[in-house]
Amino acid sequence: MAVVVVGAGICGVACAVEVAAAGVAVRMVERGRTVGGRMATRRIEGRPVDLGAAYFTVRDAEFARVVETWRAAGLARPWTSELAVLGDGERGRSEGPVRWAAPGGLRSLVEDLAAGTGVELEHEVRGVGPGPVVDGEPADVVVLAMPDPQALRLLDPSSPAAAELAGREWNPVITVAAGWADRQWPELPAAFVNEHPVLSLVADDGARRGDGAPVLVAHTTAALARDHLDDPDSAIPPVLDALRELLPLRTPALWTHAHRWRYSAPARDRDAPFHLGDDGIALAGDGWGAARVETAWRSGTLLGRAVAAALGAG
Ligand SMILES: Cc1cc2nc3c(=O)[nH]c(=O)nc-3n(C[C@H](O)[C@H](O)[C@H](O)COP(=O)(O)OP(=O)(O)OC[C@H]3O[C@@H](n4cnc5c(N)ncnc54)[C@H](O)[C@@H]3O)c2cc1C
Repeated sequence: MAVVVVGAGICGVACAVEVAAAGVAVRMVERGRTVGGRMATRRIEGRPVDLGAAYFTVRDAEFARVVETWRAAGLARPWTSELAVLGDGERGRSEGPVRWAAPGGLRSLVEDLAAGTGVELEHEVRGVGPGPVVDGEPADVVVLAMPDPQALRLLDPSSPAAAELAGREWNPVITVAAGWADRQWPELPAAFVNEHPVLSLVADDGARRGDGAPVLVAHTTAALARDHLDDPDSAIPPVLDALRELLPLRTPALWTHAHRWRYSAPARDRDAPFHLGDDGIALAGDGWGAARVETAWRSGTLLGRAVAAALGAG
């Protein structure tokens, strides 16, 4: 038997790394074609574009050490601590923590973390039950490292794990990436869009990546995403209209690409960093704390240690 980690986003990968480091056998399965989950990067027009998380921040000292290894390897770089603020009739700047970006896209960081830990890709788990069993196969512990609604689908609704997850709404986002012939906007490098019916954030992907490509990535509001969930491409025209309203774009976009995130982030934070039940079913991810990359890493790391300790290792 082994610990089975379902989901190879940064949380699941961080968890599997900790379990393996304690000498416990671990099997990681991921339904997608790649690792990374919402730290999603897609090659468009010959270069990587981040379609999920826009950037990440670093507060935890241990996560800072991981990020330092990425920085030293040229995989991650501090991008900016100042974002523009657009919308609501106002333009301004917002000072905050350093936002980190990855020249090769954020997914490359999860790939780096996963190196040395085997992942079975394109393997969708259908059900997790008492035992625990994963699609009928026994496991020592099963970790569901994914958004709450995706985990709920796998669980018996009367299980203690399902009770931990029930009743928490997650918001959708549609991401629209678009490319122009040249850079037609002032230095952003990314902008919060306040009180806007269509957009919540715009990132300059060329600035983020460091190659200066004339590419913007816009995240919609949850309300706009809800109206276009069945046909994400139908969100492209209102997003382009909104970009023209907010930025001095002179020419039409040369290409666009829309991506739907049905479960982008939970509507509310919670405090516990993970759930590890007596039934061997565990839950982790960015839903366990303030929903961000660092939270997901921390949730997976702490759960991995707790699982190893519960199995008498570590
Ligand atoms: C549009 C958007 C913008 C964001 N912006 C930021 C930001 O600027 N800064 C920041 O810090 N964070 C941001 N985030 C949040 C950040 O991306 C997440 O906090 C983090 O990536 C979550 O990682 P995770 O491992 O918990 O979950 P995920 O990355 O969602 O990983 C879950 C994995 O589980 C897999 N899976 C699900 N069900 C199954 C199944 N049945 N069988 C097998 N595999 C399964 C999925 O395919 C996925 O790969 C953003 C997210 C989105 C969507």
